[in-house]
Amino acid sequence: MGINLTNFLSSQSKNTKMIDFQDLDHLDGLSISVVSANLYKDIRDDLTMFYFREGVNAGSLEKDILEKYKEPCPEALVESALRNIKILEDQNFFNFKVSVKSSDVFLSIAAYRQLSEAMDYPLHLGITEAGSFVTGSVKSSIGLGSLLLDGIGDTIRVSLSDDPVKEVKIGNEILKSLGLRNRGVKIISCPSCARQAFQVIDTVKILEEKLSHIKTPITLSIIGCVVNGPGEAALTDIGITGGGKGNNMLYLSGVQSEKVLTGQIINKVVSEVEKMAAQLEKK
Ligand code: SF4
Repeated sequence: MGINLTNFLSSQSKNTKMIDFQDLDHLDGLSISVVSANLYKDIRDDLTMFYFREGVNAGSLEKDILEKYKEPCPEALVESALRNIKILEDQNFFNFKVSVKSSDVFLSIAAYRQLSEAMDYPLHLGITEAGSFVTGSVKSSIGLGSLLLDGIGDTIRVSLSDDPVKEVKIGNEILKSLGLRNRGVKIISCPSCARQAFQVIDTVKILEEKLSHIKTPITLSIIGCVVNGPGEAALTDIGITGGGKGNNMLYLSGVQSEKVLTGQIINKVVSEVEKMAAQLEKK
């Protein structure tokens, strides 16, 4: 996680408060660029943003670069990023990540690819102003997913016009889908159809909510019928496969365990996941 410290500071307190924030850099999983208070004092306020978000944005390129390239393009974003990096390096500051965000997926991907070839600093990925929950999630998944698949990117930010909690959820799901983060329960579920023996969609929604506290990596398959159920259950830690007349089957580690009545599915799955998580954590 990266933090833009300037968001926390009033203009009057920036210089003194910076010293306090330097103590935070040891926190686990938190990346905070440590800037000396003196350096901070000597530079322009707009540059301080660069220290922490260090972002170049297609919507706010330097005037001369925009004139040179006529429009925001990958080359313009990269030139702007390299220029700003040089400013930091000239100040003997090397502890930062770089981003070249744009709301355009193609522009972002091309710019990040070019920048990754041009320098070795860590990259913070994002599709900025991506839009509403659905549109933004799709754009972020394509943009960030393409880059991460190529091994490009060190931190990510999903930007949605929606609840920030959803931004984090989508970011986690992108990482989980790519196998880059395994924390928590990964649910595999079928889209459901007339063959379903229980309400797959509602069950998955409830389970997602009820299992959100689990941090141990566990795979769970929720499949409406025997067409795909046993196969998916064989590949997951815990599985439920729908069966007629309430004969749904619980699988543990791919092996049939017991029948579960439809009304008991939620409680049974939650208790089995919690049990498995506790066992795995002990190991
Ligand atoms: S697994 Fe069964 S219930 Fe689910 S979509 Fe396929 S056929 Fe339908």
